[in-house]
Amino acid sequence: MNSIVARLRGLEETLDSVARDAFDAEEIPRLSDQDAAELLALTGRIQRRLEGVQIDATVLVRDRSEGLRDERMTTKFGCSRPADLVRTLTGSDTRGATRLVKAAGLVRRDLGFSDGAFLPARYQALREVMVSGVLGVAGLLAATDPLEQSARRISDEDRIEADRQLADFARGADPDGDPGCDEAAPRPLPLPEDLSVLAKVMVAYLDPDGAEPAEEAALRGRYFSIGKVRDGAIPVRGNLLPEVAGQLGLLMDSLLNPRVNGAEAPEEAPADKAERGGVHFEPSAEEEAGVEEDLAAADTRTPGQKRHDALAAILTTAAGSDLFPHLGGAAPTLVVAATAADLAAGHGWGSVAHTGDLVPISAALQAGCAGGIQRILFDENGCIVSIGTSSRIFNVLQRRAIMARDGGCIIPGCTIPATWCEVHHVQEHAVGGPTHTDNGVLLCWFHHRTLHLTEWVIRLNRGVPEVRGPAWWDPHQHWHRARSPHRREPVPG
Ligand SMILES: [Zn+2]
Repeated sequence: MNSIVARLRGLEETLDSVARDAFDAEEIPRLSDQDAAELLALTGRIQRRLEGVQIDATVLVRDRSEGLRDERMTTKFGCSRPADLVRTLTGSDTRGATRLVKAAGLVRRDLGFSDGAFLPARYQALREVMVSGVLGVAGLLAATDPLEQSARRISDEDRIEADRQLADFARGADPDGDPGCDEAAPRPLPLPEDLSVLAKVMVAYLDPDGAEPAEEAALRGRYFSIGKVRDGAIPVRGNLLPEVAGQLGLLMDSLLNPRVNGAEAPEEAPADKAERGGVHFEPSAEEEAGVEEDLAAADTRTPGQKRHDALAAILTTAAGSDLFPHLGGAAPTLVVAATAADLAAGHGWGSVAHTGDLVPISAALQAGCAGGIQRILFDENGCIVSIGTSSRIFNVLQRRAIMARDGGCIIPGCTIPATWCEVHHVQEHAVGGPTHTDNGVLLCWFHHRTLHLTEWVIRLNRGVPEVRGPAWWDPHQHWHRARSPHRREPVPG
């Protein structure tokens, strides 16, 4: 008898020519529904068959990659771990290879000392189902994962019985002994999900106290971490408890709703479009499609970027709220340092005193405006030339007046309400702009942070905020009275 390798090579040639002929003749796109269904079922069976063979071959890699380093199979093939070797050889991804190695560990068998025969595998009955070609990697792991998670609290005897019952079920036997309504028709084989459900039911029975209440596990697993700067940004990771995530989500929603993506045109919007937001020039029929694109272009932030900006607004608002424990006698204040020359030139970097991380100078500019952030300027010798003091930060009364006047972020189309906004010095404080209501307007964190990158221009015309926008918003480039949707017009007495 030829070896399995030689025989499978012959099968590969057959399979190659069958597939090539079918693709060349464009046969698959023309299959009937019935044949297409049969093709998928058939290839699924072949795949599970092959996975069974792969699992047993992976057992070899596993077993022969222990012991002395130089004698390991992994070492011979230049890999460090069995999963790496399996991944390289099978052309699978890390996850696929890791699952193969895990499956191999469940069905591997030791050799008996006395007679050299194989001893039963940890899941011998499921192994036999695998050998019969019915069970692939997914089924094997689905059936065993719940048992393995409680392995230390389930006796060998119970595990062997569970293995037997799961194997029967995997072959198509009804777990309740119900022969089914039509005994002539073969029962459809259970899917991996079905095996997983049965295994979980068994574990709940075998290990009733062991399954730790989910809440305790969640409490223990809660964490939040701020990583190290990488490519100018800092990764955060964590597991939030549901109520914490819920609270954060609510705060973010309050900032992100209504989800208006566009800026309203300066002209009066037609009533039927008023709720939708967006650009409201009267388009010709040909332009209709293009306008939809403009709507999308108005706020190009991804949902993730919007959530980031909402988080920034929440933090800035919290830091400026005066409700937090004081550090060093003052409210928690983020100190941003930069050189005066860089700030004047508008390029270069500042640094965050607390962490030393670099921030672009635009962030240092923004810091000059916001409460909760203090800006320190150095000259080229490292001498302090300016410390952001309360004189440059709008006081409560000024802020309240500006909030009443603007209602929210004044960039057209933005829906962030006043509570979450920062007061922006229209004329930079550093170049003589006064900290006066006639020089301050409300901007949300995002528009404040990116103002220098956009074509929005802001001015105060005799105390009234006006904006000039990009060409897609107003091709005529006129100044327009800035109106936040949250602004309440004074009721005439
Ligand atoms: Zn805004």
